[in-house]
Amino acid sequence: MPVETTDTLVIGAGQAGVAMSEHLTREGVPHLVLEKSRIAERWRSGRWDSLVANGPAWHDRFPGMEFDGDGEAFPGKDTVADYFERYAAKHGAPIRCGVEVTKVRRLDGRVGFRVETSEGVIEARNVVSATGPFQTPVIPPVVPQEAPVLQLHSAQYRNPDQLPEGAVLVVGAGSSGAQIADELNRAGRKVYLSVGPHGRPPRSYRGRDYCWWLGVLGLWDIPAPTPGTEHVTIAVSGAQGGRTVDFRQLAAEGITLVGRTEGYADGRLSFGEDLLRNIRQGDADYLSMLEQADAYAARNGLDLPEEPEAWRMLPDPDCVTEPLRRLDLAEAGVGTILWATGYALDYGWLELNVLDDRGRPVQERGVSPERGFYFLGLPWLSRRGSSFIWGVWHDARYIADQIVIQRSYSSYDDQARRRQPAKAAE
Ligand SMILES: Cc1cc2nc3c(=O)[nH]c(=O)nc-3n(C[C@H](O)[C@H](O)[C@H](O)COP(=O)(O)OP(=O)(O)OC[C@H]3O[C@@H](n4cnc5c(N)ncnc54)[C@H](O)[C@@H]3O)c2cc1C
Repeated sequence: MPVETTDTLVIGAGQAGVAMSEHLTREGVPHLVLEKSRIAERWRSGRWDSLVANGPAWHDRFPGMEFDGDGEAFPGKDTVADYFERYAAKHGAPIRCGVEVTKVRRLDGRVGFRVETSEGVIEARNVVSATGPFQTPVIPPVVPQEAPVLQLHSAQYRNPDQLPEGAVLVVGAGSSGAQIADELNRAGRKVYLSVGPHGRPPRSYRGRDYCWWLGVLGLWDIPAPTPGTEHVTIAVSGAQGGRTVDFRQLAAEGITLVGRTEGYADGRLSFGEDLLRNIRQGDADYLSMLEQADAYAARNGLDLPEEPEAWRMLPDPDCVTEPLRRLDLAEAGVGTILWATGYALDYGWLELNVLDDRGRPVQERGVSPERGFYFLGLPWLSRRGSSFIWGVWHDARYIADQIVIQRSYSSYDDQARRRQPAKAAE
């Protein structure tokens, strides 16, 4: 059977794959996008029911198309998925759904890659991995599986009714953990929230959303920090029309805050003594943004309404001043531990020397050491915004540029080869 060929093969049709396709089309690069399920599948089925975008519609989008409706609103997850489907259609993206890539390796003695898929082999000169920043849910090995409590990852959480009766311990207070804890508490559950180190920008300040502030302050663009230090959990939420994540407020509404979940023995969990420190660090992050925003407004003469109340903190609740260090699950009636503890990468299909000894991609702005192989959509690929909707679009443009540059060398090579036999015949 003849092997199918393409210039550039993109793996994954989430927002990263859709953005990549747009730029390749614009540059006239023949390409194909393979998606093992549906366009923007993770927005469709990999998130809880009530999830809305963390940024307002005017911000969390690609430059080429707006969301329908109010730009200040926070679109629901299905609206976001629909947006990417419509975007792909608008650009005629050549996406083949239901096709999984199972292996990628170099072609022997030739330029390019052999890509094995669930529907046969494709050869491509370039391959872009757009398989997602958040692939495999990670549950730290703290509580044994046989413990008498349901353990779920936030990727498996859908809504409060899905959980067995009883209290819930939510571990992790980034955007997912903070939002899910809030939702469960509003649904009448007793909730314990285990709070680790985090940043928590104000939802808005002086009439501008934090996405705007991060943009004008250049904070979306801060370059990738040194490896190993890049992961900072950020607690933001577009739920309830968008509110600042304020752990003291959550405590005032009934949630019991605890420190990091550290150990388990005989039905009892133990928590670290870091709660107050984590809350204070989150405050410092919050206050530093207010300071930077004020300084920016003053320097640039912006006429934005002052907001002195944003500087006021609620008093520390009892659960913070005298934190629980132990919790007997049965006594507290905890039926579920919900781990909002992040994701790992999975490149089981990749047979190229482009991962380090911890399995992390080796790349600079998405360009790997293997000529023609690129990564897109990873956290901090080039900057803070890289794994987010607006950021991935700009990274995709850079990668398209690199592909075009390399195509010019290949095309020179092709032309030179064509000239050679003619010369030989002279
Ligand atoms: C809970 C949550 C909320 C978020 N909210 C926001 C937000 O509000 N705003 C924002 O900007 N960002 C948000 N993000 C971050 C980011 O935008 C999303 O994670 C987004 O899904 C990343 O898009 P992506 O295209 O890079 O990866 P993904 O959406 O993960 O897409 C990768 C695609 O690759 C496919 N795939 C994987 N392996 C293969 C294979 N071997 N063969 C074929 N196909 C394959 C998958 O099926 C998937 O469709 C959120 C993340 C999470 C976890």
